[in-house]
Amino acid sequence: MILVGEIRDRETARIAMQASLTGHLVFATLHTNDAVGAITRLLDMEIPPYLIASSLSGVLAQRLVQVLCPACKVPAKPAADLCANLLDPTASRLYQRGPGCDKCHGLGAVGRIGVFELVTVTSKLRSLIITRASEAEIREAAHSDDFPSMFQDGLVKVADGQIAYDELMRVTEPDRPRADELPADPEPVPPPQPALVPLRVIPLN
Ligand SMILES: [Zn+2]
Repeated sequence: MILVGEIRDRETARIAMQASLTGHLVFATLHTNDAVGAITRLLDMEIPPYLIASSLSGVLAQRLVQVLCPACKVPAKPAADLCANLLDPTASRLYQRGPGCDKCHGLGAVGRIGVFELVTVTSKLRSLIITRASEAEIREAAHSDDFPSMFQDGLVKVADGQIAYDELMRVTEPDRPRADELPADPEPVPPPQPALVPLRVIPLN
């Protein structure tokens, strides 16, 4: 087993990939916005797609979110956009940051908790990587395989009263709607036709 502190250049990435191909279990970190971003980052480091597809098993992305102080957090009214994002906002126990107390040294928060997303490189993702599919296509395929995004994982923690919704919105991006969830395009309007001008036949004498 090999641990690579951080992959920040092509050479380190190549060595990590080669080590995994020769049977080592390699753990490494990368700075990206989300789990799928790691694939793009490796491609940007000029790692050939076939090498990524054959050696990458999965990516776990995390961001740290402040945990509401349980002693002074106050109930929150669900925001309109939260209602759209949470399946059942009435069933959730929503809280926001309190005024601070002795327990949290007046901060309203005690420590931090991770919101995570795990992308496992399935055979479907492998073929998308090899064909150099766009990051959006890979992300859509990954999430349709039932991998909750960091935002969705955070929503569970919001609904559980552990973190505040505005704090989650500060550190993660809400999921973009998937192509099949977007409203259908309206009927295309045909371009205006040039008016037909009747031709007058002038008899030649
Ligand atoms: Zn407190």
